[in-house]
Amino acid sequence: MADILYTYKNQVYANITNRCDCNCQFCIRSHKDSVGEADNLWHKSEPTLEEIRQAMDAFDFKGYDELVYCGYGEPTCALDNLLASAAYAKEKQNIKIRLNTNGLANLYHKRNIIPELAKVIDSVSVSLNAPTAEKYQEVTRPQFENAFPALLEFAELAKGAFEHVQFSIVDVLPEEEIKECQRIADERGIYLKIRKFS
Ligand code: SF4
Repeated sequence: MADILYTYKNQVYANITNRCDCNCQFCIRSHKDSVGEADNLWHKSEPTLEEIRQAMDAFDFKGYDELVYCGYGEPTCALDNLLASAAYAKEKQNIKIRLNTNGLANLYHKRNIIPELAKVIDSVSVSLNAPTAEKYQEVTRPQFENAFPALLEFAELAKGAFEHVQFSIVDVLPEEEIKECQRIADERGIYLKIRKFS
């Protein structure tokens, strides 16, 4: 069975689904089967809520102050398990919860799910990936045609709903594109995290 919880650089991550509505050119899933201390992040079948809870019960959270939903898939594609397991972790571990997301959940679910997320999640990191809709479509190859404006709207709606909201990009983008992403973030008053590509 694949790892549901794994650690990487002193953080603990929840890998609750392999489903995703994008097919990013740079997705780590196409290069390797695991990250950090995980053995394998490909689930043979999607973990049930009970299995996620069992993984949480078996994990020693001591020393970790944040649980990050990330993994080998888009966590909001498994929305019910995301919400229920985050509530469980919060109650049992009294831990902060972060969601790393592609920001397309409102398109995927055809409704605004931010109020549901905000009940159990403290902070959200939205992968911006590109400075224009055209570039975004090219790089992330999403299921939707209007993905880029939808992710911008998701981030704007999220801004008032969580303790912290940020955009993230990787530092392999050309300098001009990084500047443009910074402008997009600044215009919306959202912090831009520039991650090292690894
Ligand atoms: S959104 Fe994340 S999991 Fe989905 S293809 Fe892109 S990098 Fe991979």
